[in-house]
Amino acid sequence: MSKTFYITTPIYYVNARPHIGHAYTTIACDTIARRQRMLGLDTYFLTGTDEHGQKIERAAQAAGKTPQQLTDEVSAQFRALWQRMGLSYDDYIRTTSERHKLGVQALWRRIAANGFIYKGHYTGQYCVFDELYVDAVGPGASCPECGRPTETVQEENYFFKLSAFEDKLLRLYTEQPDFIRPETRRNEVMSFVRSGLRDLSISRSTFSWGIPVPDDPKHVIYVWLDALANYITALGYGSGDESKYEKYWPADVQMIGKEIVRFHCVYWPAFLMAAGLPLPKAIVAHGWLLFEESKMSKSRGNIVRAETILDVLGADALRYFLLREIVFGQDGSFSFDALVQRYNADLANGLGNLASRTLTMIRRYFKGEMPYPSAAARTAADVAIAEAARRAIAEFHTQFEQYQFSRALESAWGLVAAVDKYIVENEPWALGEKGDEGSRARLATVLYTSAEALRIVTALAHPVMPEATAKIWTQLGLGDIKKVPLAELKWGQIQLGTKLGNVEPVFPRADKSAIERMQNMEEQQRGAPAVAEEVRPAVSAAAASAPVVSLPAAAPQLVIPDSRITIDDFAKVELRVGQVKVAEKVKGADKLLRLEVDLGTEVRQVVAGIAESYAPETLIGRKVVIVANLAPRKLRGLESNGMIVAASPEGGKAVLAGFLEDVAVGTRLK
Ligand SMILES: [Zn+2]
Repeated sequence: MSKTFYITTPIYYVNARPHIGHAYTTIACDTIARRQRMLGLDTYFLTGTDEHGQKIERAAQAAGKTPQQLTDEVSAQFRALWQRMGLSYDDYIRTTSERHKLGVQALWRRIAANGFIYKGHYTGQYCVFDELYVDAVGPGASCPECGRPTETVQEENYFFKLSAFEDKLLRLYTEQPDFIRPETRRNEVMSFVRSGLRDLSISRSTFSWGIPVPDDPKHVIYVWLDALANYITALGYGSGDESKYEKYWPADVQMIGKEIVRFHCVYWPAFLMAAGLPLPKAIVAHGWLLFEESKMSKSRGNIVRAETILDVLGADALRYFLLREIVFGQDGSFSFDALVQRYNADLANGLGNLASRTLTMIRRYFKGEMPYPSAAARTAADVAIAEAARRAIAEFHTQFEQYQFSRALESAWGLVAAVDKYIVENEPWALGEKGDEGSRARLATVLYTSAEALRIVTALAHPVMPEATAKIWTQLGLGDIKKVPLAELKWGQIQLGTKLGNVEPVFPRADKSAIERMQNMEEQQRGAPAVAEEVRPAVSAAAASAPVVSLPAAAPQLVIPDSRITIDDFAKVELRVGQVKVAEKVKGADKLLRLEVDLGTEVRQVVAGIAESYAPETLIGRKVVIVANLAPRKLRGLESNGMIVAASPEGGKAVLAGFLEDVAVGTRLK
């Protein structure tokens, strides 16, 4: 039985469309998974979407959809993008799937049976944006994580005895220093745990979009307990068939963005300990992807979609750039300029040029068959290249094992640069023009040496750029690159006399227009309506909506919240005074009223969810605030043209906004 390797991405929260930040995490995992397969490990690579919680319920409501419709749509977008990018995941878990629900409930029962769940009252603050209980602040305070206003929650809840795990967790971090990587994150987590752990509320009863608590369906399970469990439910935990779980759990690497470290390094191992299940071997946190030095955010309008880069330069260019340019674990910057520059320097002029000139000369001078190097014609320069290749292989492996993708690629491209110089100095084209036997033997040796170095870089780079390297491999006449046993890769394995395939350029040079094209595509996209308003700083990692202030390395990351909008953003919302002319119940809908509202210039039909607060007859003649430029949407088959503004207290009834003084119908609020 071969050794197994299980790697997971965080599951992505479906309140935002997939963007380059999600792609970054997933690409890193895909690269690791591909390399492990080449090393001969039985590899299982999991990704998926996180679909429950109050935030999704509200986002769906705002979009006039059911939560299931919204999550189906966005989850499908993620999946479509991953497929288009050729990501090699083995399973895609959705937290709304039946198998997941079963597993989460099984996990709950097991934790409860072990005595770590009790019922109690929670009164405190909750941040819906982070789906986080915030114990340290009082009513009206903002969330210490994201700065958004918290909501006061008063509920009878189930609690998890997190406080019982303080010592056990500290022991875990101390005895397994590699459990959290990199080191800076480990230090943050340890000081968080040392500062004391309070029991965690793990159920909610004021909304229903979640997995019911076993035997108490009034409650739904806290979205983070639900989401974290995906790493085992995807393997069939609690499903009756746990063969995959037995085979692959515990995970070897769980990759996350640094903003969800607490959930993965404190709550997750505590839940597993409480259930008596094995812990993952390593949680690896990467940094944020910044756009031209600033945090990508919807409000800044600088979120970059992966599709744009795929359209213009292809998936391999994006993969190479992200892994080469960014020091893994730290924040890194993305820009179209840097992307194109890196593409041209390392791929078009680097690997691509090495491939095309080496292979073209082998075709021209040796009829496309791999030439035999001659021992007699060997020089110190040839030996130096073989030595450089050996070093590159060793360094690549070492750096890669430490998640230093950038350094690993730097070592491999060091070999590309060395061979380039070697070719220039040895002038194979000049040797090729001479007819004598000595020149011919020397030419064979130079081209063999170049091709062998090309083969080694191509094999090493395959997990990073699967498509392009497969093409070069075919051009080298070597068959299926995925089957290369990477652990045995060494100098001198190329089969002499191998017939080359067709030689075609793999990385055509990109000119300045490529940058403009990508910028224009993003510009156009920004005008398009979004699925949901914000990017949760959650599982999605790389692009939340807060700018980052850099501090000295030892200090914890300080995130300054900024969900503010400009006056121009506000001016886009057309609020007007309207007067209700007609109000009636909507058949079959307990919460909805159909209203006809006079806006001065026209009468609009508006469907509003206020039936529980107002009897229809009490509304006639009342002046209300209408969002007048909202796109029409259908509710229960009725078109709603606009929205009535109301305060919506948590768990309470809606209260319409109104005016103390008289005001003319149609007046704009600004
Ligand atoms: Zn928050």
